[in-house]
Amino acid sequence: MPQETIHPDHYLLEQLEAAGPFQAAACFQCRKCTNGCPVTFAMDLYPDQVIRLVLLGQRETVLRCNTIWVCAACETCTTRCPNAVKIAELMDCLKEMAVDAGIPCRQPQILTLHEMFLKNLKKRGRVFESTFVPSYQIRSGELKRKWKAGAWRDDLKLGWQMLYKGRFSQVPKSIKGMEEVRVILSRAKQTTHTT
Ligand code: SF4
Ligand code: SF4
Repeated sequence: MPQETIHPDHYLLEQLEAAGPFQAAACFQCRKCTNGCPVTFAMDLYPDQVIRLVLLGQRETVLRCNTIWVCAACETCTTRCPNAVKIAELMDCLKEMAVDAGIPCRQPQILTLHEMFLKNLKKRGRVFESTFVPSYQIRSGELKRKWKAGAWRDDLKLGWQMLYKGRFSQVPKSIKGMEEVRVILSRAKQTTHTT
């Protein structure tokens, strides 16, 4: 089968490093990131492959892959990397680049979660779970799906138990460093837009 020729291009790496730095160029493909990642089963590219494609400048492939959206930002990869490549942070930056480029997320419910999470962060610096979870379920269509499958009762029961045990707060509260959070978010936005 004929193989597609890859034409290496440094532009994507330069863009990302200007927004980071993420130290992606230090990657020597040891795969420690991938071997520790808990969600590789749902990825179409492994984390080390994303880094390799970034180094080769394969912008379209990287911005259209599922992996950047499936990444749970757990930072296991970043912690394990012997070269201090900031993989989790780079995945976040790639998400923002994909959104800015108008590249549709293949799993829209993940994009909905991402947008809602950032909105909560801008408002209070934290997520107010008591409204966040039901709002997400409605907006993403999860509630409709669970309603049809009769699975909504389990969620309701779980939500009630968490509220009862104090795992969900009843009153929305903002964090003390709200101004710092706003500055961080606005700087992150500016950096991604100017790259
Ligand atoms: S752990 Fe670090 S050096 Fe190893 S493949 Fe992943 S990014 Fe590259
Ligand atoms: S941050 Fe993302 S890529 Fe890294 S280990 Fe966690 S889920 Fe995998």
